[in-house]
Amino acid sequence: MSIEVIRDLRGLHSAIARHRNGPLNTAASLAIVPTMGAIHEGHEALVIEAKRNANIVLATIFVNPMQFGANEDLDKYPKSEIEDIKRLEDKGCDIVYIPSTETIYPDGFDLTINVPKLSSVLCGKERKNHFQGVATVVAKLLLQSGADYAIFGEKDYQQLLIITSLVRDLDIPCQIIPVNTVRDSNGLAISSRNQYLSSKQVDIANNINLVMNEAAKNFYNIDISETISSIKKNLGNAGIDKIDYIEIRNSHNLENTSNNDKSNARLFIAVYIDEVRLIDNIKL
Ligand code: AMP
Repeated sequence: MSIEVIRDLRGLHSAIARHRNGPLNTAASLAIVPTMGAIHEGHEALVIEAKRNANIVLATIFVNPMQFGANEDLDKYPKSEIEDIKRLEDKGCDIVYIPSTETIYPDGFDLTINVPKLSSVLCGKERKNHFQGVATVVAKLLLQSGADYAIFGEKDYQQLLIITSLVRDLDIPCQIIPVNTVRDSNGLAISSRNQYLSSKQVDIANNINLVMNEAAKNFYNIDISETISSIKKNLGNAGIDKIDYIEIRNSHNLENTSNNDKSNARLFIAVYIDEVRLIDNIKL
């Protein structure tokens, strides 16, 4: 069956109702895959995971203005709607919801959802209010769709924890399912923003994962400060010297990891290559 393209809330509700009561003739389960479009292999892995867990797969494409800062790339964020729909359909997606900004934030909209502790570190330090925008739109999408499952990538690990926390605290009856970061053959985490890189810059960016893996090998034998400084040095040698953060934190709560307790440690990195901000994280 071909994918249904829906752009408003009433259409979304009726498409979901039709699918839930459709040919399966049972209370079919629904998984949602929220995206900002520019669909790539990372998003496709989420759709595949959604299909493994639920009868109906709903992807969403919404470039959420609320999560972009004043000087960020909202206006030039890559858009490729026709190709996106085709790729989602090819992976077996049933419905794609592409709401307008007015559909998500109608006149008079006056709400922000904040998950303050998890949002105050890492990407939340530089990008003020970013995670409030993410939390608010994701809460809306989960409630608009009534999805039983929501699939998120570990590529945006902090976002995954924030959403897990908000779903728990608001008692939203939706199970959050994480998916490992999808990487290209050189180890670079696939991202819509990789499109902004020239081929020379991609060669430089390929070092991020190499340097992270090298740090993971020695992590349990040396002090955390040494790990951080060797990452910084190795990134610098690779031509990456504009660093937003290099941090090692606990995978469950994002608290700082100490030399005395390195359990559940995870390495988080955000760097700039020219103006392009890239993030990555790995388990240590
Ligand atoms: P975005 O369109 O960048 O907002 O991402 C939408 C979803 O895809 C989020 O859950 C991301 O974590 C996930 N995602 C993006 N890139 C990757 C990747 N390389 N591997 C796995 N998931 C990803």
